[in-house]
Amino acid sequence: MKIKINEIGEEITALEKSEITAYAELGKKILPELEGEIASEFAPFIDRIKEIGARLNSLKTEQAALEAEYERAIESLTCFFCKTVNLEGSVFCEECGAKLGEKPREFCEACGTMNRPEQKYCGECGAKLSPSE
Ligand SMILES: [Zn+2]
Ligand SMILES: [Zn+2]
Repeated sequence: MKIKINEIGEEITALEKSEITAYAELGKKILPELEGEIASEFAPFIDRIKEIGARLNSLKTEQAALEAEYERAIESLTCFFCKTVNLEGSVFCEECGAKLGEKPREFCEACGTMNRPEQKYCGECGAKLSPSE
């Protein structure tokens, strides 16, 4: 008996969710076609949808910016030589002692190829390798 009640309860919850989804899909489809013909009593709903849309957009923009910033931060803390991700504020790699953010001059920034130290140009793409300091 109890199991049956629970099963029915779960199905009701699932159906209510898909009912809401179906209404939402219908609304999204129909709304642009009704532009300007919507009765004023529905205006609060439209305003709410617009508000939510604007907030969603600004949150997505903020999220993308933060993600990009985070990726840059991780990249600057990742050792080129041993790939260790170091703690924030580190200058040298805790694992191998290399200076963070530094790459050997024979590494081609253009195509990512590691060349021999005596090469002046990348053997893979021909880009000029930066002179050693
Ligand atoms: Zn390292
Ligand atoms: Zn190259």
